[in-house]
Amino acid sequence: DNSTTKTTKYPPGIVLGKDGKPCRVCTAFVDWTRREKKKQNTINNTKNNNNDSSEKAKKIVSTGSLGTAMINIVNNNVNNVDNFDNVQDCPPDVEQLGRATWTFLHTMAAYYPEVPSYEQQNSMKSFLSSFSKFYPCESCAEHFRDEMKNKPPKVESRWALGRWLCQMHNLVNESLGKDIFNCDKIDERWKDGPPD
Ligand code: FAD
Repeated sequence: DNSTTKTTKYPPGIVLGKDGKPCRVCTAFVDWTRREKKKQNTINNTKNNNNDSSEKAKKIVSTGSLGTAMINIVNNNVNNVDNFDNVQDCPPDVEQLGRATWTFLHTMAAYYPEVPSYEQQNSMKSFLSSFSKFYPCESCAEHFRDEMKNKPPKVESRWALGRWLCQMHNLVNESLGKDIFNCDKIDERWKDGPPD
């Protein structure tokens, strides 16, 4: 439950990492920019109250540049983005990372052997175990590991792996209030495309 990692010290939606600090890759872009806006207001106040531009204020302003870029992107003010030639250069938020990762995982499952060798099955199990330890959104990874304990990976065939992953993704969808995906459609979505 993400709510266990949120605190009232930060705007709503900010998810904290294990170090107790806001975790960018666990937080949605829109919530992160709200935090950056708040931070920037504080910086502007500091600047107004402190015309001699102390070293401390300079430091805060320089670390705030990414926040400025993100705020401009959210406001569709892309021409005014500091330090970024292309908005795609921004570090991912929880949603971007999630979409990219699901794309990789479902595509990998779609191209997994129909009848994998014993060695391939073991490699896939190790991969999924490592993945669940190193996924950069810590709170997401923790949920995923918990779900994997209840529902260990099915690696005995392409069909089984695809289904298992679809069900795991649906558990996340459900927890986020998103639509449940029809697992009969995984090949159409991730391998073959729509029928002619
Ligand atoms: P996504 O959920 O990213 O899906 C991408 C596409 O996959 C969809 O457009 C659809 O075509 C297809 N799809 C959807 N469901 C399925 C399915 N069941 N099977 C096959 N294909 C499907 N975000 C959080 O805020 N909190 C979390 O705890 C969290 N945990 C995550 C755990 C993992 C392991 C991963 C990879 C991501 C997690 N995310 C989490 C991110 C979240 O799942 C979404 O990726 C993100 O919210 C963006 O959602 P989206 O609506 O763009 O589509």
